[in-house]
Amino acid sequence: MPSSQKIEEVLKYIKDNSPGQDEFYQAAQEVLYSLSPLLNQDPKYLEHNILERIVVPERSIIFRVTWLDDAGKVQTNVGYRVQFNSTIGPYKGGLRFHPTVSLGTVKFLGFEQIFKNALTGLQIGGAKGGSNFNPKGKSDNEIMKFCQAFMTELYNHIGKHKDVPAGDIGVGAREIGYLFGQYKRLTGEFEGVLTGKGLDWGGSKARKEATGYGSVYFAENFLNAYGKSLKGKRCCVSGSGNVAIYTIEKLYEMGAIPVSCSDSKGTIYHEDGIDIKSLKSIKEIHHASLEEYAYLDCACTYTPVSKYPEGGHAVWHIPCDIAFPSATQNELTLNDAKALKMNGCILVNEGANMPTMPDALEFIQESGILFSPGKAANAGGVATSQLEMSQNASMAQWSFEEVDIKLRTIMQNIFKTAYETSKEFDCEGDLVTGANIAGFRKVANSMIEQGAV
Ligand code: NDP
Repeated sequence: MPSSQKIEEVLKYIKDNSPGQDEFYQAAQEVLYSLSPLLNQDPKYLEHNILERIVVPERSIIFRVTWLDDAGKVQTNVGYRVQFNSTIGPYKGGLRFHPTVSLGTVKFLGFEQIFKNALTGLQIGGAKGGSNFNPKGKSDNEIMKFCQAFMTELYNHIGKHKDVPAGDIGVGAREIGYLFGQYKRLTGEFEGVLTGKGLDWGGSKARKEATGYGSVYFAENFLNAYGKSLKGKRCCVSGSGNVAIYTIEKLYEMGAIPVSCSDSKGTIYHEDGIDIKSLKSIKEIHHASLEEYAYLDCACTYTPVSKYPEGGHAVWHIPCDIAFPSATQNELTLNDAKALKMNGCILVNEGANMPTMPDALEFIQESGILFSPGKAANAGGVATSQLEMSQNASMAQWSFEEVDIKLRTIMQNIFKTAYETSKEFDCEGDLVTGANIAGFRKVANSMIEQGAV
């Protein structure tokens, strides 16, 4: 059977069997279509039914999470852990707490995680989890109660050699602390079952910074391949969470000028460059709205969401050389991509997971803008999580510099792997194809070697 027919068959299977899981379907479509050159070249992947197997999670765990709010009322949420693929190592992937989280969200993120983790060159399988719990507006006590209830349901399914969750949207150092404390209480074991832990109890230096820093290292590698660099480039960053903050911090270190950031309520444009100290204070210490930034004594503008240009996101309408979407999925529309092109943008470097909509991605690739897919560009976070697991296993703690050097090398290798694979398949610089084929090939070959399991 021709590979194109098989791809359509598998996509139809997903559509028929995963109703309402649009983001998962979108992620699967992007990966499967880009595998055509590999599937045409080597028939073994179809002979072993790898496509049919790889789009179905090994295990999906769905559970009720009930917890007591500050008023003494019982609240109910839904928790998920999708253990997608453990062929090359224990399941690894973050937990997301956000009201929009559904099984489809977790499946899309878990599916992407398989190929991302393979690209790092480390032995980690793909998984993702989370809940529709909304941490916004909750007290510290309520966050703790929820995390404890969530872990009470999850702890039986995870372990240091089995499945090692981490943070994602809505899950930072505080939540990882409460989750870890409850795991320890339930099992009586102090083990590296979560990453993103506190530095005094098993965490890795530079883990907090790793996704943002790694995203910037990736962009620099990509630009260098075309005789360019980040130095002096004006950069638009979206989001103002973990990934965005450390992208902005590293951009300054590389001599670039990050001029924007955003949150779900609005966008800041600061022509002279974002004041990173103030941003950290507003977001990391006070957990406040970005609107606070507009009250600083500086010449910046704040655009609330309701005033965004029709069909787009204000960040992408600010003139820039490089775009770093670092907030959430599908945040960069076709309209935004056109604005970026018109304003002379030369690279879109995805810090978030799947932030670019399919038609926007098509436009970007056709218009000659360089494009770094998230599963390659944001892999520094999970790679450093694996470094945290290594440190836990040997009861060691490496210095910030040691971890950062390893991170730089990993990002350089991920870039090389994706870039060399794109050349191998006659589409030099198409890193969507390069990253998908390189990640898939490693996992698929291992699945074949391990037989029908
Ligand atoms: P955070 O929760 O720290 O920050 C998320 C940011 O995105 C916040 O500014 C938030 O605004 C904004 N945001 C979230 N949802 C929406 C939405 N629906 N519309 C507009 N803005 C939104 O998350 P992270 O920085 O950790 O994650 C950002 C992205 O990076 C995600 O796609 C995540 O999957 C990906 N990623 C993260 C990694 C990590 O190590 N943390 C690793 C690899 C990928 P607000 O505060 O107003 O909600």
